[in-house]
Amino acid sequence: MIDKKNLLAEGKAKSLYETSKNDELLMVYRDDTSAFDGKKKEALKGKGEINNKFNAHIMQYLSENGIDTHFIDTVNETESLVKRLDMLPVECVVRNIATGSICRRLGVEQGLEFDQPLFEFFLKDDDLGDPLINDNHIIAFGWGTEKEIKIMKEKTLVINDLLCEIFDRVGLILVDYKVEFGRSDHNIVLGDEFTPDGCRIWDKATGESLDKDRFRKDLGDVVESYQIVAHKLGISI
Ligand code: C5P
Repeated sequence: MIDKKNLLAEGKAKSLYETSKNDELLMVYRDDTSAFDGKKKEALKGKGEINNKFNAHIMQYLSENGIDTHFIDTVNETESLVKRLDMLPVECVVRNIATGSICRRLGVEQGLEFDQPLFEFFLKDDDLGDPLINDNHIIAFGWGTEKEIKIMKEKTLVINDLLCEIFDRVGLILVDYKVEFGRSDHNIVLGDEFTPDGCRIWDKATGESLDKDRFRKDLGDVVESYQIVAHKLGISI
């Protein structure tokens, strides 16, 4: 039994609690779903449980393949224990195919496949709408060091190779995703989550979106689509 102490942070779909151990936190996956900086919100029954199990599967796979993560274990259907990290205030996005904000920002063709995965940093700041930033901003404002930038890029791209492979094997395309890192004992460790809330997954045969774009674009069957992806990846819900 894990003691749930003070609420440390409440995100749009997860809550983070302190536990009786100072270096371990409890991550609670809620059914809440939001898009467009919180302008569109809905509770989708069962999403918290799927995301908790989805994240556990991906974090374990990454950890088995040399990526240091904060994930410790699931404690029940919707909660997981994680290591406390000192999070860097940036989001690391990798794109294999152009869609979403890059098409709006740069007017590039939707569906363009990149020869090399494209890496982008965004600042984690809801009030500013998480703006695109570059390495120089991170250094200038002290959000991270040159070494930390290099490690975040390298790890995010290794994660891309590892994940593209398992998605591809089951007929899915990992289009893009966001990950976040934190510091722990002078290491840069993967934190936050990897779930269909924070990535784009297309069916290879039909091109259908099976991720949060279903919610953003009112395509219906959001939780069912997450379930389809989980099932293909061998995650039992
Ligand atoms: O919106 P954009 O196209 O920049 O998103 C790129 C990828 O990063 C998508 O998979 C999206 O779900 C994810 N993302 C996220 N959280 C954010 C911004 C983007 O999970 N705050």
